[in-house]
Amino acid sequence: MSKSGKADLRHEAANVDVLIAGAGPAGALAARHLALAGRSVLIVDRLRPASPRLGETLPGAGVRLLARQGLGAVAEAGAHHAPVGGGLTVWGGPHAMPSDALRDPYGPGLRLDRAQFDAALRSACRAAGCSWWTANLQHLQRDEGGWHIDLHDGRCVRAGVVIDATGRAARVVRRLGVSHQRTSELVAVYRIAHPATNNDLSRTVIEATPDGWIYAGRLADGRWAVGYHTLPKTAVQIRQSSDLWAATLSAAPYLRDCLGPIVWAEPGIVREAGGIGLSVSYGDGWLAVGDAALAFDPIAGQGLFNALRTGLAAAEALLAATPSALSAYGAELARVAAIYAGRRAALYQAETRWADRPFWQAQQQAAILAAEPAVG
Ligand SMILES: Cc1cc2nc3c(=O)[nH]c(=O)nc-3n(C[C@H](O)[C@H](O)[C@H](O)COP(=O)(O)OP(=O)(O)OC[C@H]3O[C@@H](n4cnc5c(N)ncnc54)[C@H](O)[C@@H]3O)c2cc1C
Repeated sequence: MSKSGKADLRHEAANVDVLIAGAGPAGALAARHLALAGRSVLIVDRLRPASPRLGETLPGAGVRLLARQGLGAVAEAGAHHAPVGGGLTVWGGPHAMPSDALRDPYGPGLRLDRAQFDAALRSACRAAGCSWWTANLQHLQRDEGGWHIDLHDGRCVRAGVVIDATGRAARVVRRLGVSHQRTSELVAVYRIAHPATNNDLSRTVIEATPDGWIYAGRLADGRWAVGYHTLPKTAVQIRQSSDLWAATLSAAPYLRDCLGPIVWAEPGIVREAGGIGLSVSYGDGWLAVGDAALAFDPIAGQGLFNALRTGLAAAEALLAATPSALSAYGAELARVAAIYAGRRAALYQAETRWADRPFWQAQQQAAILAAEPAVG
C-alpha cells in the first residue's frame, strides 16, 4: 500500500496478445471476438465519460448484428431500451416526412440507455474471458516487435497488437502521430424533456431550424431526450441561457406543436459532434475501430453500427493474420467514409431555406470540401 492507503499498482504488469484501449461498443465487440478465438485480451478503460449519452438510437442493422453474434439479449426493448417506430423529419421544407420502421429491412431500432448497453457488452467480454483493468492508456512505444504501454496509474502492459477504441479522443493513433481530419464543426446540447402531448410517440423527430437541427426521441422511462446540433459558439451561448434554449425550440414549429409545452430538466449536456476521419485506420501492430477510426455527424445515425461493425471486422482481420485482411479492413473503412461524405453532403445541401445563416453555410462548405478529391 502507498502512504495514501491506495493499492500501489506501479509494479503490476501484464503480457497479452492484444491490448484494447477503450471499452465502448467498438472495443467491447473486438475484445469479445478475439477472446472467443483464444487470444489473450486486456481491455483498459477508466470509464470516466465526459458526459452522459442521451437518447442514442441503435439502428435495426445494429440490433441484427448483435443477435448474429449471440448478443441479442444486450439489445432488447424493455425497461432500458425503447423501440423506435420510425422517424418524422422536417428538412428542406415545413412538412414532416414520415419513415416507418416496418419498412426497414433490418427491423426497428432501439433508443438506448447507453450506460446500460455498454455495461451489458462489457459483461459479455468478461464472460468470453477478456481481462479488464480500470485505467487509461497514457503512453505507448514499440518494444521488441510489440508494444510497451504505460497506464495512467503506473501499471504497464506488453502487447503484440494495440487496438485504439478510445472513441473521438483517438488517444492511441494521435500518440502515434497518425493524421486525422475534422470534416465538420458541430456541437450538440442535449436536455431531458417532459412533454405535455404525444408523450408516447415512438418515432424520432428531426427538425431543421435556422441555426442548427433538433433531434427528439422518447426514452424507455417515458422522458424525452432533445438535442440541438449547432455551431460551437451558438452551443456555448444556448447552454448558458434558458431563454435562448426556449427561443431555439420555438424556431422548430413542428416539434413545438407535436410535444406541446415542455418541462425541462437541468442542466444541458454538451457533446462534440462533428465528423472526424483518420488518414489510415491500421498500421504496423495497431488498428483503430469505431469513432477512433471514423466519427460521424450524428445526423447519419450510424455511429453505433459503425462501432460494432468495425470492432468485429478489426478482430476478424487480426485473426486472419494476413496483410490482405488488414488492407481489406482499411479499404472497407475508406469506402464507408466516402459513402458517408456523399450522403452528408446531399443531406445538408437539401436544406436551402437558410442559405444565408452561418450554420448552414458552414455545413454546406464542409460538404463541398469533403466531396473534393484528395490531392496527392
Ligand atoms: C450528440 C451525439 C449523438 C449521437 N447519436 C447517435 C445515435 O442516435 N445513433 C448512433 O448510432 N450513434 C450516435 N452517436 C455516435 C455514437 O455515440 C458513437 O459512434 C459510439 O459511441 C462510438 O463507439 P466507440 O466504441 O467507438 O467509442 P465510445 O463509445 O466513445 O467509447 C470510447 C471509450 O474509450 C474510453 N477511453 C477514452 N480515452 C481512453 C484512454 N486514454 N485509455 C483507455 N480508454 C479510453 C472512454 O472512456 C470510452 O469508454 C452520437 C454521437 C453524438 C456526439
